[in-house]
Amino acid sequence: MTGMPLASADVRRHNLGLVLERVLTGVGAARADIAAHTGLSRGAVTSLVADLVDAGLVQESESVAAVGKGRPRTMLRAADSAPCLVTALLDADHATVVACSLSGAEITRAARRHHRPMGDPEAIADVLAEVLDDVGAELDRRARRTADLAVVVWAPVGGEPIRVLADTDLEWGEVDLLGLLRARSAYLAAFEAEGGAARLTADSDVAVLAEHASVGSPARLLYLKSDSGIGGAIVLADQDDAGVRVLSAAIGHLPVVPHGEACLCGQRGCLVTVAGPDALLAASGLAARAADEGLTSALTTFVTQVRSGVQPASAVWHEAAAEIARTLQILALSVVPEIIVLGGFVAALADDVDAAFGAIQPHIAHAAELRVPRVVGSTLGADAALRGAQQQARTRLLADPLAI
Ligand SMILES: [Zn+2]
Repeated sequence: MTGMPLASADVRRHNLGLVLERVLTGVGAARADIAAHTGLSRGAVTSLVADLVDAGLVQESESVAAVGKGRPRTMLRAADSAPCLVTALLDADHATVVACSLSGAEITRAARRHHRPMGDPEAIADVLAEVLDDVGAELDRRARRTADLAVVVWAPVGGEPIRVLADTDLEWGEVDLLGLLRARSAYLAAFEAEGGAARLTADSDVAVLAEHASVGSPARLLYLKSDSGIGGAIVLADQDDAGVRVLSAAIGHLPVVPHGEACLCGQRGCLVTVAGPDALLAASGLAARAADEGLTSALTTFVTQVRSGVQPASAVWHEAAAEIARTLQILALSVVPEIIVLGGFVAALADDVDAAFGAIQPHIAHAAELRVPRVVGSTLGADAALRGAQQQARTRLLADPLAI
């Protein structure tokens, strides 16, 4: 380590995080293993574990007989009563709320359809608040405190206080969603009254964290996600000491078609106007199905039709795949990712995009240093954003475990 030495309180906080992380991952979670893995002394680990046990975060579990003459080893795990992480996900069809333990095990989940009332954030906040309160009541029954509460939306967020900037899928302009929920959910209001701060985050910003981990944490990753609109993010993990950086990318609103159709964002020819779910479903005659059964169900039908060569879905998709590939090419030549991951409904059709992407590579791409990245479909499915949000919450809490 270089630079000024850390103050001892900072060192202890950092070491508590290291020990707790090791316990939560559950691999080799005896004190001796933790010491060996972290490079801390046995005495230091014993003292840090004692603090974590006192804080109600860690408990001793079974003893494992030692090999040879050693004493039996006591394993450690997250305490049964430890506070939990709660993630609310608002998508184009559903409000879903999941509570999980610090180690990621699901405790309870509730979901409800909101029927996509366009341009009516209050109606959707009503539904999400009900689901939050259902989960809050279940956590009360189990006497579990909430350590982190994150609300994930399928839209860009920003501003102060943080709010949804524009959700074209729901025809929202700027919406203070946390404010609407605070006025409706007794559970959220109680969490904040006890000193918690609910967080609002964009789905692609957190989903990409889970995707990045699932493909082996490459130095640079480009992520495109389409469930309702088209979003994305870029992950940079190749900078010393900077950790993983996520750059949000409004990929759906890159104006890729010259003089194209007017987009709700005010530009012309955005990718979403030629390859977004609503455009694809309309061109494939599936718009009514989306209205009746929800977007997710209609997109599942669309993917099935494309895979079976049913027209017009198949032709509509192949044109869209070429537009997506061309957009990815613009980004890939700028960012130079090792891999491109497609999430949402396009994950199932990633091979088509990979083929279209490969077909448009310039001759210079044959140079060894400009290897063409593969385009792959996410394997995490709809839970990528939830898992990413849980991962982000855990990273935040591990920075100061005794404040959990
Ligand atoms: Zn646009």
